[in-house]
Amino acid sequence: MEKIVSLCKRRGFIYPNSEIYGGFAGFWNYGHYGVILKENIKCLWKQRFIFDHENMFATDTSIISNPKVLEASGHISNFGNEIFKTEVGTGEEITISHLRPETAQGIFVDFKNVIDSHHPKLPFGVGQIGKAFRNEISPRDFIFRQREFEQMEVEYFVKEAEWEKYFEMWREIMNKFAEEIGVKSHELEVPVDERAHYSKRTIDFQFDYPFGRGELWGLAYRTDFDLKNHNLDYFDEENGERIVPHVIEPSLGVDRSVLAVLASSYTEDELGGEPRIYLKLAKNIAPVRAAVFPLLKNKPELVSKAREVYVMLKKEFPNIEFDDNGNIGKRYRRQDEIGTPYCITIDFDTLEDNTVTLRDRDTGEQERIAISELFSKIKA
Ligand code: ATP
Repeated sequence: MEKIVSLCKRRGFIYPNSEIYGGFAGFWNYGHYGVILKENIKCLWKQRFIFDHENMFATDTSIISNPKVLEASGHISNFGNEIFKTEVGTGEEITISHLRPETAQGIFVDFKNVIDSHHPKLPFGVGQIGKAFRNEISPRDFIFRQREFEQMEVEYFVKEAEWEKYFEMWREIMNKFAEEIGVKSHELEVPVDERAHYSKRTIDFQFDYPFGRGELWGLAYRTDFDLKNHNLDYFDEENGERIVPHVIEPSLGVDRSVLAVLASSYTEDELGGEPRIYLKLAKNIAPVRAAVFPLLKNKPELVSKAREVYVMLKKEFPNIEFDDNGNIGKRYRRQDEIGTPYCITIDFDTLEDNTVTLRDRDTGEQERIAISELFSKIKA
């Protein structure tokens, strides 16, 4: 874990919060590459959990709500001391509210609005990505247990009789998502006495972190608990009756996903007789897709050709990097630690025949290919 934390800081993925003042337990800052890695994971989640399905809607609800929301949801009575209290307003008009401990309640509270806007038939769902806050007693293990973190949650509304079918559907989607981001997860059926107060079935997706096995994500059957608490229901046109839909909730922590991705991809090996560290990130989530280098920094013709290739690739892939700092070996080492799948070097032969050297991150092998082949190579 120390090696991962150190790489994250060194290369600009994640920094301790308020570091110059000694840090602040439970809070972390994402740097440039961390932001892009996290964004790539969130984009893939949006694709797989929202856009790939019919009847899935996106939302972005506020962090602070009318205090009645968390009273009705049972959070104040069950977790009151773990919730961040805040004062809304000034002077005599103060309302005590709390920062949300999960994004889910915002979705439940908007249930009627979504129905009025989109008239969806059951089953349908609403997904959102957003910050959540818990005053954890012992924040620890880097970004595993924070006081401020981010969630990607779906609330999927179904008829009671169909809950098992859709529980299985989301279970499979979560397993595929883990695979796609290169994370090996382990399912754990959570026993009755350890489930949250609202759940009739929960599967924890666990991960072997450097400090041991722990929760990565959760899949819960929340029954009709939340909609009932908020006095919400649904008019079922098929049977002409009002019913309270039941809820399946795939809940994924963004930061724990980032940590699992980092821990899964952190690799130490030897290349050309030298020890090296690299991140074996899946191409679709790597913060830098490819880096373009001129062989020598002080040869204007190489630099201008390299910039030409860089600009051309950047039109297709936004995350292409140009690097002419230090010698080539140093540049490779830096890109390996960031997890860049490909490095492209422009040398004197390029000026003659429009070919470049393409280096593969995992094997360190280099091949000579035409500039015109770069797009398809990098995309694959
Ligand atoms: P744990 O048992 O580890 O405290 P939880 O069961 O309370 O987690 P949930 O309420 O199911 O977690 O929250 C859904 C997801 O949000 C978790 O699977 C995890 O990915 C993420 N999460 C929860 N608490 C934290 C935290 N303090 N820091 C970072 N991520 C968190």
